[in-house]
Amino acid sequence: MQMPVIFVGHGSPMNAIEHNALTQQWERLGEAIPRPKAIVVVSAHWYTKQTYVNDQEHPRQVYDMYGFPERLYELRYPVSGSQALATQLQQLLATAQVTVDNEWGIDHGTWSVLTHMYPKADIPVVQVSINRNMSLEASYQLGKQLRVLREQGILVLGSGNIVHHLGRVDWEQPESGYPEAIVFDEAIQAATKERNKAEIFRLALSAHEQRQVFATWEHFLPFIYMLGATTSTDNVRVFNNEYQYGSISMTSYIWTNIE
Ligand code: ZN
Repeated sequence: MQMPVIFVGHGSPMNAIEHNALTQQWERLGEAIPRPKAIVVVSAHWYTKQTYVNDQEHPRQVYDMYGFPERLYELRYPVSGSQALATQLQQLLATAQVTVDNEWGIDHGTWSVLTHMYPKADIPVVQVSINRNMSLEASYQLGKQLRVLREQGILVLGSGNIVHHLGRVDWEQPESGYPEAIVFDEAIQAATKERNKAEIFRLALSAHEQRQVFATWEHFLPFIYMLGATTSTDNVRVFNNEYQYGSISMTSYIWTNIE
């Protein structure tokens, strides 16, 4: 049996300590899927000049967000790492020349979601950074090399947002999206259900050029990595397709193998 692949729209770091309809879905995910042996996470918040993994037994928890209430910084997610899995990733992704970097650690893209999915923090986590110098196709190919981990009981998880433009955030509309955000998000959903990679790339490149739904790549790219880890026998389900503050979509995907 293969483990699913999941892309989660993580949104505000406050989701880590909030209990809302979105985080309820994260809790349910943890209960609904087979318990993984370990989790490989590609988080939007580890956006680097090459591809790194962390391999510490006790990775640092990074509080990479500013100006939030104190209780968010008090949240502890003391998860273990896995040197064995980090080494395996280096071998698996040999063409990307993955190196170990423990300066970063486990960031809020990862722990804000996992604290709901696996509140006991008892499943080892290894993060893979996003190489900012890779093309969409190269990012997809790297994701493809993660497919084999699914056969080994390892959950491959991407954490970002399909629509994410902090410069256009409208605090007046916490629960809705701009028309162009909805159009883009829905077009990505349709192309994903059709497994139309070329269309997804076209939509993404055009969105990046127009700077309306995102201006930088880091929150979108985890989705491309996850797409790479899926196959044509996967069944895709969309969840949490909601919009926040105009320019954030929480739309999330789970691909489950139905073979
Ligand atoms: Zn984020």
